[in-house]
Amino acid sequence: MRERAIELLEELTTIDGISGHEKYVSRYLKTQYEDLADEIVYDNLGSIFAIKKSKTPNAKRVMVSGHMDEVGFLVRVINDNGTISMHPIGGWFSQNLLSHRVTITNSKGETFKGAIASVPPHLLSEQQRNQPYNIDAMLIDIGATSKQEVLDKGIKTGDMIVLEGSFERLSEDRLLSKAFDNRYGCAISVQILEALKDVELPFDLVVGATVQEEVGLRGAKSAANMIKPDLSIVLDCSPANDLNGDRKALGFLGEGVLVRVVDGNFIAHQGFIEYFVDICQQHNIKHQPFISAGGTDAGAIHTSGNGIPTLTCCICARNIHTSSSVMDLNDYESALNALKELLISLNNDKIEAITKSNR
Ligand SMILES: [Zn+2]
Repeated sequence: MRERAIELLEELTTIDGISGHEKYVSRYLKTQYEDLADEIVYDNLGSIFAIKKSKTPNAKRVMVSGHMDEVGFLVRVINDNGTISMHPIGGWFSQNLLSHRVTITNSKGETFKGAIASVPPHLLSEQQRNQPYNIDAMLIDIGATSKQEVLDKGIKTGDMIVLEGSFERLSEDRLLSKAFDNRYGCAISVQILEALKDVELPFDLVVGATVQEEVGLRGAKSAANMIKPDLSIVLDCSPANDLNGDRKALGFLGEGVLVRVVDGNFIAHQGFIEYFVDICQQHNIKHQPFISAGGTDAGAIHTSGNGIPTLTCCICARNIHTSSSVMDLNDYESALNALKELLISLNNDKIEAITKSNR
């Protein structure tokens, strides 16, 4: 299971796919889902889902999804000297950017390497060194000497820019790469289908990946409207906060799947989260409490239709929204086991009971 996880995480995190430009990720997922699903469906924004149908009559629907987009940039302006200025997509801290290598993908899918230019310390005043550098002022250098040279490569305003971040196995348990937020969820979506391949479920299982989470949970809205699930489970990778030794912080690497009680746009469904914690306890699965100022697709899904009991089955990683996020495979395995045991335990009566538990 671990070797398969590493293979999926390496392949998925090294694909470039920012919000609105996810097709290379969804094409990869399609190749993985095909043999594991009765049907593959898309919403019109590009979210992809594999459906595993139940033989039970009037089966309910359980949706398991994680977003597939990553944060990045779009080409904003191509300057006369061949440099490129950029427009951020998703949340960025400008100090994570200077001198990083980037890949630009044009509309034909051709890729070009470059770097975000940085002023050498020799040329900076004391005052400039102490100031953050605005993204607006940053320039990408792809080695071109004129605007025409950039245009001749087929690069234009709106093309995708992603920070390079190669995949490395740092230790037995820890991995370094870009975009664990949220290719983690994409990898789990494949492995849960593999784990349940020969299991007959009493409900329809709809597993997949949404688009445009990083810009406001947009794909989750269209996907939930299309699927109309009875229960939803969201897979995402949240910020770890464990580097300064503060034991009062939340989100520790290696301490298991996150039990998210509240975030910026979601309060856990009490019946569903209690059911989840019971599953973790019964099966000795490591889990840890979590609260975040951010949010996940759960924010959009749980308020769709007439309300959908929703749970998050997330892990945390360090340095998310940079090219160098770090995750722990034990957390991945805790999340996958918890999701598997949860799904195996569900049936129509239990889904009904969870739904009505807040009355
Ligand atoms: Zn995310």
